[in-house]
Amino acid sequence: MFKCIKCGRDLTHDDIGFHKKMVSRGAEEFMCIDCLCDYFGLTREKAEKMISGFKRAGCSLFS
Ligand SMILES: [Zn+2]
Repeated sequence: MFKCIKCGRDLTHDDIGFHKKMVSRGAEEFMCIDCLCDYFGLTREKAEKMISGFKRAGCSLFS
């Protein structure tokens, strides 16, 4: 199980997919959605909409 490198929370598949999508596909350390939102200045709601968009688009990082 991966943990967020910033806050130490256990990461979900979505957290990891979002990090890969937003930061780097080759990433080996990840942040949770909340920390990524802080980092990119997004709201949590916006991030979740983006994730559902990526899923709808069939993005392999979220399958
Ligand atoms: Zn975090």
